[in-house]
Amino acid sequence: MKKVLITGGAGFIGSNLANKLLELGEYVICLDNFFTGSNRNIAPFLENKNFKLIKHDIVDKISLDVDEIYNLACPASPPHYQFDPIKTAKTSVFGIINMLELAKDKGAKILQASTSEVYGNPLVHPQIETYFGNVNPIGIRSCYDEGKRMAETFMVDYNRKYGIQTRIVRIFNTFGPNMNINDGRVVSNFIVQALQNKDITIYGDGSQTRSFCYVSDLVDGLISMMNNKNNFLGPVNLGNTHEISVLEFAKKIIKLTNSNSKIVFMPLPSDDPVQRKPDISLAYEQLGWRPLFDVDLGLQKTIDYFKEQIKENKN
Ligand code: NAD
Ligand code: UDP
Repeated sequence: MKKVLITGGAGFIGSNLANKLLELGEYVICLDNFFTGSNRNIAPFLENKNFKLIKHDIVDKISLDVDEIYNLACPASPPHYQFDPIKTAKTSVFGIINMLELAKDKGAKILQASTSEVYGNPLVHPQIETYFGNVNPIGIRSCYDEGKRMAETFMVDYNRKYGIQTRIVRIFNTFGPNMNINDGRVVSNFIVQALQNKDITIYGDGSQTRSFCYVSDLVDGLISMMNNKNNFLGPVNLGNTHEISVLEFAKKIIKLTNSNSKIVFMPLPSDDPVQRKPDISLAYEQLGWRPLFDVDLGLQKTIDYFKEQIKENKN
């Protein structure tokens, strides 16, 4: 049985990954400072003897006995990562240094959850791993984008200098159960608004596009990347290639929830990427990975999850 550390394990993706790794029979250590993570997400595992929770901030050093590290700790939603941008940048930069030092001490393998945001507001479409991106270094998204870019740099340099087994995945917009009801990203906002018949808030004119991947596919991709036997270090894009405009997405959510919500248009935040869609041919070539879960079925599962959350919050 491997000892697997998930930083950010109480968050949306981290808790879904923990669930899958426990199912696969691994020992899972979840490390989290609970900034955006929740007890609710890890409550099902607390009685499991193969699960351990450590409340800790990855900005601070830590020593643990581990074989593998999935470094997911970092707020991912724009309102959350912009809440304290200096802390966000430190989480990515000091966090990855601390995790790479831990990997070096313990001879552990480490996977970094990077992001499509390393491409910034991309001028190449779809985005391919060889594209260096179009990132504003001084904008409101920079704390996240540049922090994640720097983390990639530390990963490759620790690999080159110390031979650490590193893996970089660039995650594109992912959704599913265990997203926080106050997460602030488009999927949770639109579903929660639609379920409550409140206005659906589109930022800008809604012509910007995203491509949404269901979380179980993403988790399979993370595990395939960690375990790949080709010594393939990445970076590799993981995401769904089905591109949709934010306006079309709002209409789809209204339909799926049978909602009476109206669409309202609000100001577009600065540096909001205009178009985003991953090229996932490298993931398929190296890992045999591609998303398989039907997006509408994934949305239905997410809608059911938020219905429960809304009910719980009322009680
Ligand atoms: P999330 O906000 O639900 O989870 C992040 C987790 O990290 C939370 O549990 C939070 O409490 C924890 N955390 C934050 N700062 C920390 C710190 N300093 N020390 C310890 N724990 C800390 O977000 P998510 O969507 O689950 O994202 C997980 C990872 O995947 C992030 O690194 C994010 O950048 C990356 N990612 C996610 C997406 C997506 O669409 N969900 C896309 C690209 C990249
Ligand atoms: N968005 C929106 N309404 C919302 C939340 C987000 O129109 O209530 C837009 C946002 O401006 C962006 C897209 O939806 O263009 C995706 O936003 P999200 O925060 O989910 O992730 P991003 O990909 O921008 O990091």
